[in-house]
Amino acid sequence: MIVIDEKRIFEEIESRKPVSVALNGPDGILPKIQETASRIMEMFGIPAYVLADSCFGTCDMNTNGAKVLGAEILFHIGHTINSTSFGNGVVLVDAFDNISFESVAEKCSREFSGRTVSLVTDSQHLHEVDRVRSVLENGGVRVVVGRGKGQLNDGQVFGCEFYPVMETRDRVDANIFMGQSNFHAAGVALSTNRPTFVLDPYFNEIRDVTEFAQTLQKKSILAVYKAAEAECFGIVVGLKEGQFSKMAALKFKRELEGLGKKVQLFALTDITDDKLRNLKDVDAFIQVACPRISTDNQFHKPVLSTPQANALVRILRKENPEGIFQIQHWL
Ligand code: SF4
Repeated sequence: MIVIDEKRIFEEIESRKPVSVALNGPDGILPKIQETASRIMEMFGIPAYVLADSCFGTCDMNTNGAKVLGAEILFHIGHTINSTSFGNGVVLVDAFDNISFESVAEKCSREFSGRTVSLVTDSQHLHEVDRVRSVLENGGVRVVVGRGKGQLNDGQVFGCEFYPVMETRDRVDANIFMGQSNFHAAGVALSTNRPTFVLDPYFNEIRDVTEFAQTLQKKSILAVYKAAEAECFGIVVGLKEGQFSKMAALKFKRELEGLGKKVQLFALTDITDDKLRNLKDVDAFIQVACPRISTDNQFHKPVLSTPQANALVRILRKENPEGIFQIQHWL
């Protein structure tokens, strides 16, 4: 069950006495966020708006939505990073999953005894890392936890940011991702090129996502080679604040035009196949927002992420494009 650190929210409201507040977080915990918003309204008698658009990370906080509503504080819940606020207007609030890993960690220690693993997780399960580590070590598994960097804590990854596992990849036999997210675990497998397993406490199972990640990689590489045949490219700037990368878009424009390609520039908040189908005379797209939009979705034409677009440029220059995803940060 997800537990939101409401104490932090209530203390902040008590001390700052805002006229209204807004709250958001990942889709999966919206029902919990609704409950918190109701409690705020009851306790403090102020409007508490739930920003219910999809919210995939601290890259996607929708502070504009909070501003338009006149909310003085935006409580962004459930994307723990190594800081607690963004300026004065955004307060980052932890939300932890209180499920126990005890049983699945025991199972894992039997399966991986004698091997070395890198233990990694997402925001919701960070507090369990030490406990799982000691269960595994007691069972004879050598465990390393990579150092955090950028916004990441030790042993934490985002869907596009992998510093801790990249630091440990040459020392381990496998990565063990604690949680349920095949999405995060596949990113770990792709970036490190190491066997990667999900330690799922809900199903009490250890899932191998290595093959799934390889399928994503093959599909992504195919899209790059298809795009290499394109004449006209649409370069899409994402309008979500933490994914905004106009400079990268202009860099790809310059590079592709230098290679004799035509380029049109677009901007979108949500980059979906339906939206891209409306755009004419484009053979392939490059989107410089969330890289997982390209790797994890189906599109009617090639839609490359930033690492894929870098590989495309290398191919067009007759250079070696290898290691597309074996980088610490895909943006
Ligand atoms: S994977 Fe996408 S949604 Fe997740 S942190 Fe990276 S840019 Fe944001």
